[in-house]
Amino acid sequence: DVTHGRILYLEDVHVAFDGFKAINGLNLDIAPGELRCIIGPNGAGKTTMMDIITGKTRPDSGTVFFGSTIDLLRHREADIAAMGIGRKFQKPTVFEQLTVFENLELALATDKRVAHSLTFQLNGEQKDRLGEVLQTIHLADSAARLAGTLSHGQKQWLEIGMLLMQNPKLLLLDEPVAGMTDEETERTAQLFLSLKGKHSLMVVEHDMSFIRTISEKVTVLCDGSVLAEGTLDEVQADERVIEVYLGR
Ligand code: ADP
Repeated sequence: DVTHGRILYLEDVHVAFDGFKAINGLNLDIAPGELRCIIGPNGAGKTTMMDIITGKTRPDSGTVFFGSTIDLLRHREADIAAMGIGRKFQKPTVFEQLTVFENLELALATDKRVAHSLTFQLNGEQKDRLGEVLQTIHLADSAARLAGTLSHGQKQWLEIGMLLMQNPKLLLLDEPVAGMTDEETERTAQLFLSLKGKHSLMVVEHDMSFIRTISEKVTVLCDGSVLAEGTLDEVQADERVIEVYLGR
């Protein structure tokens, strides 16, 4: 069983758009509880890879497994999210006119339209989780604030909190510290380190000092496949990696 002991397993994945090979023989695996950083130049295929994992894009060929039993290519995007793969895009999308608390509450509702009626009640376990999530995302003192009044960094944390309310096994995050202040970036690193072990994370980032703080293993994507893998120091010293970053 090739997928044994991995939360995510991709083998020889290919996808072409109008003949252009955006993903070209991609192999990748992530261990349970691992925090993996993904780097690579523009057009390397990072977004397309996340689209494939989340079921938004179907590859032309290859294997994509979640854990050892779930063949993700047999499932739709909404089912994949419900199975415990949470994705966060670069820009924060929170409900600005609702409070922090209400945003987290709403993240549990399957039907967002009725969620905010007075009939929506959290059970005990959900209340406990909401309290824990507020602590994790550094917003325990801001539960009653309107989300629209939060800083950019706090909105990003709130959106991560909304994903955490679903207790995902795997989180995919696209440039989470883009646009953050140095202090927010530092606190985001703490947040991610506190998630490691409990969740598996795949983080696409450009901020190398942030990557250095949070990750022991980095994957470099280029031209739709893995160019290098190792610690940040190892990949930064790799001639081929230097070439793609300097030569383009
Ligand atoms: P990255 O996120 O690493 O910048 P992308 O996954 O967005 O890379 O893109 C990889 C390549 O595939 C790019 O050259 C991009 O133009 C191309 N591509 C991505 N999605 C599509 C699409 N839907 N149609 C055509 N080309 C696409």
